[in-house]
Amino acid sequence: MIDQMTASLARIRFVLVETTHTGNIGAVARAMKTMGLSRLELVAPRHLPDAEALARASGADDLLEHAGIHETLVDALAGCRLVIGASARLRTIEWPLLEPPECAQQLLDESATGDVALVFGRESSGLTNAELARCHALVHIPTNPDFSSLNVAAAAQVLAYEIRRTARAEQGERLTDQPRDLATAEEMEGFYGHLTETLFAIRFGDPEQSHKLMRRLRRLFNRARPDRVELNILRGILSAAQGGKTARCDAER
Ligand code: SAH
Repeated sequence: MIDQMTASLARIRFVLVETTHTGNIGAVARAMKTMGLSRLELVAPRHLPDAEALARASGADDLLEHAGIHETLVDALAGCRLVIGASARLRTIEWPLLEPPECAQQLLDESATGDVALVFGRESSGLTNAELARCHALVHIPTNPDFSSLNVAAAAQVLAYEIRRTARAEQGERLTDQPRDLATAEEMEGFYGHLTETLFAIRFGDPEQSHKLMRRLRRLFNRARPDRVELNILRGILSAAQGGKTARCDAER
């Protein structure tokens, strides 16, 4: 069974209008696939995806293979209830303008029930006013106002990531570290006892001052929060320093 996030992402189309460089089409496919998006629609591309597109897709060949090819933007948007245009410039025309997180939220909200689209313009001139008029809103990635235009695949990557980030946050997904098998309080006490004994045995420091030294050493090892394997190694070193058996733990061999 596919989960809600996968189902929503599958209903978000990335529409590229009259892309000139096939390499950019491939790079957009890669940007999409890394973020779990799959529907790529091409409107009158100058060239159909070729070897350069495949090279830049870097394994996202399936998206290129299944990409829809359309003569007009209207065709590419068939069935979509929400259309957002990505714009490199802040236009003078009054049109609802979204920040990338708002754009992602709206696309995800609407894609829960139907198809939606994000439209990207030509490398040379972006989207025409007539094309913008097909959009419910525009999204602008806030770039340097004096140098605001991203490569179309870079823009697609930023917006695709924002969509995935928002979807994951909705599901409460987070990257988690591998849980570490930390040494327990008793094991740490056992180690400190062993350490004190060893320091005496090898005549390290002044026994009168040893409580001060031990406090510092405790602070050091407590800061490190060793796990069980690490504690085993330390105890092996202590045994070896006392001339006992070298107790190297198996995990480290
Ligand atoms: N020279 C064009 C820029 C084209 S960049 C112009 O001035 O409009 C190609 C496409 O990438 C743009 O049409 C837009 O869809 C997207 N894009 C580039 N930079 C962007 C940005 N800062 N915010 C949103 N989309 C951007």
